[in-house]
Amino acid sequence: MGEESTVPVLCSFGGEIVPKCGKFVYEGGTTRLMRVHRSINFLNLLCRVNEIFKSTAISTIKYRYPGLELDFPLVSVTTDEDVSGMMQEFSSPMATPIHLFAEPRHNLDNGTIQSTPSILQNSEITSSSHMVDAYRQDGDGTIFSHSHGQACHMQYSSRQDLDNVTLQATPSIFHEKNETNTSSPGMFDDILYESDLNPLIHLLKENTAMGGIETGVGSQPQVVDNSGDNTTSKIDFSLSEGQEFRNADAFDMALREHAIRSSFEYRPMRTDQGRIDKTCIKDRCPWYIHASKVPGGSSFRIKALESNHAHEIAKLTTHRQASQKWVANFVRGQVRKHLYSTPDDIVAAIDHVYGIEVNYYMSRRGKDLALKEVHIGTSLYDLAAYCDEIERTNPSSFVTLDFPSYALLGIFIAYHATRHGFEKACRPIISLYSRNIGGDYPHVWLYATGLDGGYNSFLVAYAVVESSNQETWSWFCRQLARILLDSPEITIITVKQEKSSEAVGSIFQKAHHRYCRKLLCEDFYRKFKDKDLLLNFRKAIDAESEAYFRLHMDEISRISPEAQKWIKEISPTPNFWAVSCFDGQQDCIDYHLSAEEFDIWRDDGNAMNSSVISMMRLFHTNMREIFLRNQVQESSDEDRQLTPYALGRLDNVETQLKLSFINAKHHCQRQFYTESIYDNDNGHIVDLTERTCTCRIWQLHKFPCCHAVAAIRVHESNVLDYCEHYTVANCREAYSEFIHPISNVHHMKDTPRTSGAKKRTYSKRNFTP
Ligand SMILES: [Zn+2]
Ligand SMILES: [Zn+2]
Repeated sequence: MGEESTVPVLCSFGGEIVPKCGKFVYEGGTTRLMRVHRSINFLNLLCRVNEIFKSTAISTIKYRYPGLELDFPLVSVTTDEDVSGMMQEFSSPMATPIHLFAEPRHNLDNGTIQSTPSILQNSEITSSSHMVDAYRQDGDGTIFSHSHGQACHMQYSSRQDLDNVTLQATPSIFHEKNETNTSSPGMFDDILYESDLNPLIHLLKENTAMGGIETGVGSQPQVVDNSGDNTTSKIDFSLSEGQEFRNADAFDMALREHAIRSSFEYRPMRTDQGRIDKTCIKDRCPWYIHASKVPGGSSFRIKALESNHAHEIAKLTTHRQASQKWVANFVRGQVRKHLYSTPDDIVAAIDHVYGIEVNYYMSRRGKDLALKEVHIGTSLYDLAAYCDEIERTNPSSFVTLDFPSYALLGIFIAYHATRHGFEKACRPIISLYSRNIGGDYPHVWLYATGLDGGYNSFLVAYAVVESSNQETWSWFCRQLARILLDSPEITIITVKQEKSSEAVGSIFQKAHHRYCRKLLCEDFYRKFKDKDLLLNFRKAIDAESEAYFRLHMDEISRISPEAQKWIKEISPTPNFWAVSCFDGQQDCIDYHLSAEEFDIWRDDGNAMNSSVISMMRLFHTNMREIFLRNQVQESSDEDRQLTPYALGRLDNVETQLKLSFINAKHHCQRQFYTESIYDNDNGHIVDLTERTCTCRIWQLHKFPCCHAVAAIRVHESNVLDYCEHYTVANCREAYSEFIHPISNVHHMKDTPRTSGAKKRTYSKRNFTP
């Protein structure tokens, strides 16, 4: 039909897709052009891509669907069918060239890219269509899954004709970068990335050499840093004396995981109340562990550990420690992946990861056990299904169901619509705070909010976690970092007393970080109960210039040296609270208390005695309504107007201008001098091009100060042209995308998703039904 038999293919590698000027662009890396035959198969295509970049590491390729921008998920290519599907989408004459994005397999432990000769040589690739992403190991033996890239497909099918469910799951759970320099050492150090295609076993074993499967280093557990608080469980495959676990079960799981990974089995020596002793199963082997209950609590601590074995460590094909509960743990860690998968799939997945076989029965029971597990009043099954449902109905949303802290559950949700709105129409200021969930639950909501052009609180992301602590905040910030990136533009406001402050410091290293001034002031007043002091403190915080800051600080130290001391103890430098030494963007109000709106939602939920999942639904509905309310189909003249908030603010500026008789004089180009007859402090230089004033208010607040307004008048321009962030149109822009409704998860339990599914078969194995 005149179709060219070869097609041009652009291929990019080494860069990344980043938001820029309101669009997503591919930045960095190189782009090469090649021609491929339309009938090329996947493996050959992958070879060509690796060839052209002289690489052996590329294992993932994706393409941009014709006509779509880069902020849409890329389409993964993992099979021959995918390749031919892609060719069909780009039928000739081609309007746009095929643009492939190649990604290497990452080893996040050291940030290097490993070469993977196996991928090009492995003949099993076509037969084993099982794709498992990556696994992360938690201290209690929980394995976490990671898919990388945005449109990661995972396909399973059962050998038995139970469902033949094929999944398309978990887009981009993690985009972890530099995870290792976060503040919870060890916790994410064990992240392993695995290509979609590679057989997992070899690599996992290599990467988990710390677990010592082949090298035998399992007999010499790594030194776990036990300095600092030892109530935090160390997430590590290895065990060491002094390590502490939440309870006996957690210890049991960690021990099993360790033994399975290290290829040795153990047996109990004695188990008393409050004491656990195990020894290696081999005769005369000295390996031995003793843990006991920490007095006055439920946690267990390793008291003694002889970690050497007196025999060869040989690879095991079955393992007596791979119990039902252990399988449950495995499933739990990747609950979203295994939600619809069959026991056979789980058997195979465990085989892939650990190289050991568990039987069908154990796998089935393990899965049931995991999915029936109740967290925050809802089964893991429902939570996972809910997360899937959000992702299905609201594509490009970030939803994470994870165990951020040792066996503590966390759910993070950032809708596509809220991410889009924040990026397009909110100033780069984010507030982080937590709220108790109320009802009978100890859990907390974690919020990340911005402000829209009308100064309404704009919820960008939220999470439910089991408690507000360093680990959960670190986890939350890591999720958030995937949306916000660590940009030098962004200002992050935290509550000083909350653990969020430490997490922000370690994860958003470039961002401007400051404490909520409102809550600082409240604390200050509670302590000193002096209005005069408070006034000075407030003015010191808000002073744009160093001189005023000093003035008020001196006044405070004159009134009360004690108050001065208190202030000095807030932070080593005043950056965290004083505007005068803060370059990030500012707002006139602190909006931590704007959470009141969400408190109402929460209280509504509690009044109805809701489970946490129904509360999340309530949040979803309420947010959806807010978005719908703010969406106006047609643009009108009104769009260019300022929001009521901005009009009020402009009024104030004008009053200030009148009262202080500020005059602006043209200086050069678009620069102006201002001066006041009454007030020496109003001599400033305004630059209309840069939109700055030496009083700093304009650049910090992105709202013209009185000097700027005076200059704009002299320049005979319209003030409106300088307030673009605060227009009605921009305010609406924040709500321009839809939050789509979600159906009731309970209805979808029995309707596995099969759309677009391709049936796969597994390599044959011997299962014990
Ligand atoms: Zn032994
Ligand atoms: Zn000014």
